[in-house]
Amino acid sequence: MSGEIPSWIRGGLRFPRAVLDDIEAHAVEEYPSECCGFVAGPADDPPLASQGAREVNEADKYHRLDPERFPRTSKMYFKINELRAARSFEAGEASGQPIKVIYHSHCDAGAYFSAEDAATFASEGQLMWPCAFLVVSVVEGEIRDRKLWVHRPGTDTFDESSFEVVDP
Ligand SMILES: [Zn+2]
Repeated sequence: MSGEIPSWIRGGLRFPRAVLDDIEAHAVEEYPSECCGFVAGPADDPPLASQGAREVNEADKYHRLDPERFPRTSKMYFKINELRAARSFEAGEASGQPIKVIYHSHCDAGAYFSAEDAATFASEGQLMWPCAFLVVSVVEGEIRDRKLWVHRPGTDTFDESSFEVVDP
């Protein structure tokens, strides 16, 4: 992270209903695997997260290549390609549509931020990506819950934040 801290990493975001609907459709389609993706939005309207982008969960790919080092499959967790993520964050920044949210789903589990999620997205008190995190819970193939999580500065923990869903 460089420069000033963008306000959306503190949460309080605004999602158009269609964007949230698409994230939830993605989560249901991928069930019983975890889905993941980004939501970008205009730099000049910090709380607005209006542009969803689906990403591939690479957990199964790594598991196939090296099951000892990556014992879990996409049913248990998700892995975003870090190079693609870095490029997407850079491209978003350059185009005035920065990525504000990384989303993923939990299958047959709640929309909490797991210890694994926290370890993936914060290290030694530093947030790894300058964004907030949406977790969608899918239970028996149906959307059960969704929660937004934000990094607590100087720690490796995340707190629940609020968001609103707006009709365009
Ligand atoms: Zn998770």
